Amino acid sequence: MAEFDLIELIRARCAVTREDVRLGIGDDAALLAVPAGQVVAVSTDTLVSGIHFPKDTSPHDVGWKSLAVNLSDLAAMGATPAWATLALTLPQADRGWVGAFIDGFAALAREFKLALVGGDTTQGPLTITVTVHGFVPENLALRRHGAHVGDAVFVTGTLGDAAAGLRMLRDPALAAGNPATAAMRAALIDRLDRPMPRIAQGLLLRGRARSCIDVSDGLAADLGHICQASGVGAEIDLAKLPASPALFSLLSDSERVPLQLAGGDDYELCFTAEAAAADDLLSDLARSGCAATRIGRIVAEAGVRVLDASGHPVELPRAGWQHFSS
Ligand code: ADP
Ligand code: MG
Repeated sequence: MAEFDLIELIRARCAVTREDVRLGIGDDAALLAVPAGQVVAVSTDTLVSGIHFPKDTSPHDVGWKSLAVNLSDLAAMGATPAWATLALTLPQADRGWVGAFIDGFAALAREFKLALVGGDTTQGPLTITVTVHGFVPENLALRRHGAHVGDAVFVTGTLGDAAAGLRMLRDPALAAGNPATAAMRAALIDRLDRPMPRIAQGLLLRGRARSCIDVSDGLAADLGHICQASGVGAEIDLAKLPASPALFSLLSDSERVPLQLAGGDDYELCFTAEAAAADDLLSDLARSGCAATRIGRIVAEAGVRVLDASGHPVELPRAGWQHFSS
């Protein structure tokens, strides 16, 4: 199967119609119209097989995740998704693999009415690069730099599930024994393979959050980026960190906490807002389909500290995931 047959397969199976796409896949470049009064938020993420996902991840899940991690960056900016490009590097022209991959990608693209408008298809070690484009009124974009001393710190959803899912995959015997634990095990693995970008929550935070980031490298590291950009520090209350029922049931406290603070791959939003606005914000987020939790506060002293129930600092697990670090 040749390159052009693969491109046609991708085009046909990821068809989302948008009026602002004046010219999509098939020419030398796409032609796209930006709505008046908005700026374009652009973000790129690459997934390398064996590094960003286990080599035996299903192609459907690889397709989903490659778009989801990109959309998570748009969510963190408070942007509405519009378009994407897809650079696919494949070991071979495997029609079955590409078909399942693009079905996973398209499932999420349809959910957010995002059009795939172009890309590139090459041969080599399996690597997927997606670039997403979204719209946001310039003065409403959520940024990392606006946290104030006294702000409350929040996070959407639950933390540590994806990292626990990865641990489950590495140890096939873990929690596989009975139907109840096997279902929780599957739920954690699902959070690793099929993260849900918090787009609606990002939109809801426009004009209300003072700073925002998506949690991809672990809460402590990503909140650290907000603190650094804002020239402040943060305290997190250990007991407030949200955990899913599966994470809570399958892991001990000492196994769970490092994954919640530094596991990575969560794709939740961490944000700060004026403490007085917390109650309204939390109830609106709960109604949006993904509740958030108030987990701490912004302070003047630089750095991120995690406090136990009696207010004493606990040692942080190693900093978030970094390439080229060892
Ligand atoms: P060119 O040689 O002009 O760069 P290509 O042969 O690479 O063109 O691509 C032809 C068309 O198919 C272009 O519109 C390009 O954007 C699109 N395309 C190529 N690969 C992909 C892909 N993986 N996903 C989506 N569109 C693609
Ligand atoms: Mg090309």
